[in-house]
Amino acid sequence: MDRDDIRLSFDAVRRLAEQPLLKCGVSREHAEAMAEVVALAEADEARSHGLYRIEGCVQAVRSGKVDPQARPEVVSTAGAVVRIDARGGFALHPLRLGRPLLADKAREFGIAALALNNCYHFSALWADIEIMAERGLVALSCTIGAHNVALAGGSAPAFGTNPFAFAFPRGEGRKPFVFDLSSSVVAKGEIELRRRSGESIPAGWAVDRQGAPTTKPEDALAGAIMPFGGHKGAALGLMVELLAGPLIGDLKSAEALAIDTHDGGPLRGGYLMLAINPGHLGGNDSGLEEADAWLTSLARQHKPARLPGTRRHAARVRSMADGILVSRCLYNRLLELC
Ligand code: NDP
Repeated sequence: MDRDDIRLSFDAVRRLAEQPLLKCGVSREHAEAMAEVVALAEADEARSHGLYRIEGCVQAVRSGKVDPQARPEVVSTAGAVVRIDARGGFALHPLRLGRPLLADKAREFGIAALALNNCYHFSALWADIEIMAERGLVALSCTIGAHNVALAGGSAPAFGTNPFAFAFPRGEGRKPFVFDLSSSVVAKGEIELRRRSGESIPAGWAVDRQGAPTTKPEDALAGAIMPFGGHKGAALGLMVELLAGPLIGDLKSAEALAIDTHDGGPLRGGYLMLAINPGHLGGNDSGLEEADAWLTSLARQHKPARLPGTRRHAARVRSMADGILVSRCLYNRLLELC
């Protein structure tokens, strides 16, 4: 704990996130959905998508880029697909509306898709899908991220940080198996946080504008971030760009950047979530129990290696018991925004 950190309850963090949003004109439905996910990110110690994102959201409203009162419209529920138009608003409120519709479709058809267009998604994807797996569904989601990532062997941005997340249910009362990763070697927010705190970044994360390797966050942000795992991560990043862009009739990351107002907020774009009902594919209760037992034994037998998601879940338990540490500087900044 830094001497300057303060300890807040989950509800206090949620209010700290919500107040600046309400103050700048974000509707209550949007502000509630956003504050909930931001507070969860802080509780899970996923800080690159926690409270520090609120200022960017406020700037995106002030610049006129995001409609803070946007009323999402369910455009179609034909077949196994739910299509929602966010109408230029933030993504989390439309996702709250869309998730139950998607879950009903998955229970009816076995597999279903939710396409969300014209939205501004700024948060961690696990928060969107973990809740689906807690209700017994397998879920996958992806969205277009900032246009900052080079192809393997390249040295200029070619696609977005394009996160991809997967959640698999582990039964009543058990935390689902969840992973959530950006296509870049690290989320852009992680580099931004280091820029703010004056830290350097590890070698291998990024190149500068001239394509030379750099450990300076500001040069990395002006240059390009590397894809994770070389050509394999780049391929996944391109897959996400196609799924959350052209497949659902939305923007690619370069197009989103071209119309952006550079206010520090998220880029406009599309979002795709798939949900699968295990029962329709032969994954009955005993199959899911077997999956849970397998994951449990992997975690036991391969220590100190761990499964994805377990760091976050352990942090959440700690945060709910002991409170959440927030830097005083960030705390004061958010109060100023109120
Ligand atoms: P990380 O590399 O920190 O983690 C990626 C995944 O790997 C997590 O599920 C994590 O689980 C798991 N993991 C990490 N270390 C280990 C380990 N040693 N053993 C096993 N599993 C491990 O995340 P990224 O930097 O790639 O992405 C961070 C976030 O950025 C994501 O939540 C993503 O959704 C978000 N993002 C959002 C964007 C948007 O536009 N909305 C754009 C880009 C990124 P655990 O959490 O338990 O550590």
